[in-house]
Amino acid sequence: MSAEESAGAAAGRRGLVIVYTGHGKGKTTAALGMVFRALGRGMRVAVVQFIKGKWKTGERLFAETLPNLTFLVMGRGFTWESDDLSRDKAAARAAFQEAAALIAGGEQDIVVLDEITYALHYGFIAEDELLAALRARPAHVHVVITGRNAPDALLALADLVTEMRSVKHPFEQGQKAQMGVDF
Ligand code: ATP
Ligand code: MG
Repeated sequence: MSAEESAGAAAGRRGLVIVYTGHGKGKTTAALGMVFRALGRGMRVAVVQFIKGKWKTGERLFAETLPNLTFLVMGRGFTWESDDLSRDKAAARAAFQEAAALIAGGEQDIVVLDEITYALHYGFIAEDELLAALRARPAHVHVVITGRNAPDALLALADLVTEMRSVKHPFEQGQKAQMGVDF
């Protein structure tokens, strides 16, 4: 970027709260697409995934090779199916503490909270504490939130909300999740 361009970029910079919700496929994919774009601009990005701790996802494998990208998967080895709810809660809470610190620290240009709505749904994280972390974020920090059933107060606070609507999904034809497409 020229000095002029970077001054322009800085002047126009306002950190957004972006929510990808709904039942259709594409929420996490959309967030990761933005991460890809931002890394290309030399921005610093953090992704905190609130589920799939024991899954090796393609994004997690690729993230290990990328500088400028902090990638945290919370509660490795735990699933929402676990009957040890207190352990799940502890893992989700630890994830949230890390995420909140990444947001507040201001070193990251973008912080993605992937699937955090599930932790809200289970009551592991209070809606109010998430909203407080968003409101208190440094002015330049973008926060991207994904997950089904985003609560109304979050939608109200957000600058950008996209609801993914499923028109068709191969799952309905019995097609299981596929590597590189779904994980
Ligand atoms: P992706 O990570 O592929 O962008 P997503 O974040 O929108 O998907 P999640 O609710 O996180 O969706 O669910 C992830 C998994 O659920 C993926 O394997 C995805 O293919 C599958 N999925 C998403 N939408 C649907 C749907 N409408 N019906 C069935 N399965 C779905
Ligand atoms: Mg997802």
